[in-house]
Amino acid sequence: MARKNRNDRNIRDRNLRDRNLRDRNLRSATGSMLNLRQRKRFCYFCKENISNIDYKNVSLLEKFISDKGKIRPKRSTGNCVQHQRKIAMAIKRARVIALIPYFKR
Ligand SMILES: [Zn+2]
Repeated sequence: MARKNRNDRNIRDRNLRDRNLRDRNLRSATGSMLNLRQRKRFCYFCKENISNIDYKNVSLLEKFISDKGKIRPKRSTGNCVQHQRKIAMAIKRARVIALIPYFKR
């Protein structure tokens, strides 16, 4: 009786372990796929050593807005936090003085 119970528990434990292993493998597989797709991202401003972002530099700011006119997220631009904040502020300033539209169709 006791032996049967232990066997049952062992089987259950093994199933659980297998499932965990499979999940982990799946996750790592999707992770590597993401890595392949996005490849390496870098902060443009850190690379070029630009500390101040000019809000009048429209051609630069347009790289960081989507085709709808929204500010592109850090995950798609690859900017670091500091520069993403600066670019967001520059884009907002440029919008106020109508260099960049708030919304494009
Ligand atoms: Zn940066």
